[in-house]
Amino acid sequence: MKMGSMTVLERRARAIVDRLAETCPARIELDFSSPLELAVATILSAQCTDARVNKVTPHLFSKYPDAPAYADADPEVLQEEIRSTGFFRNKTRSIISFARSVVDNHGGELPQTMDDLVNLAGVGRKTANVILGSGFGVNEGVVVDTHVKRVSGRLGLTAESDPVKIERDLMEIVPRDDWNAFGLRMIQLGRYTCTARKPKCDGCPLESLCPSAHTFD
Ligand code: SF4
Repeated sequence: MKMGSMTVLERRARAIVDRLAETCPARIELDFSSPLELAVATILSAQCTDARVNKVTPHLFSKYPDAPAYADADPEVLQEEIRSTGFFRNKTRSIISFARSVVDNHGGELPQTMDDLVNLAGVGRKTANVILGSGFGVNEGVVVDTHVKRVSGRLGLTAESDPVKIERDLMEIVPRDDWNAFGLRMIQLGRYTCTARKPKCDGCPLESLCPSAHTFD
């Protein structure tokens, strides 16, 4: 059903975007000071808390200042440096292959387009969106992680379960300028309020806009 030039869903999405903007920080909890650092921190954050990643990255970032440094890293050493983040053998392989593809295909400089980023070793669309949105300030897509997936389903913004399809749905109803901030805010809401078990609907800023409010009580 259309209301004016916007569908009911688009209007509701707009209200959710606005409410989130007033109440939820568009904050990324990984520490970084460059897109490359953000890329490495994002690889390390798989199956690990951001707080734990932030404990190992200060040493990494000062020891490995650029992609060639990671590309030449001794895997045995890097493995020990990131061990506390879990899955450290896989993550070591990912970081080194990722850095080698940056060096081999882009002269050591992290590319700034979705197509180039997803062609780098170890970078999927979610990581590419994090790098583009929070590293380069470009709205190319919406980050869909486990929190965004769960919360957008509860909010009735998508009926899909595949992250790529969820992202496509969100890109259709959220204004492009808000894509990155919206994703970051949904992650914050999912982490602290709309948690997987026992979401805190009382006091949730989206309570009056959410079809799932209090259905878990
Ligand atoms: Fe999640 Fe409840 Fe908020 Fe809906 S009202 S977004 S289910 S916490």
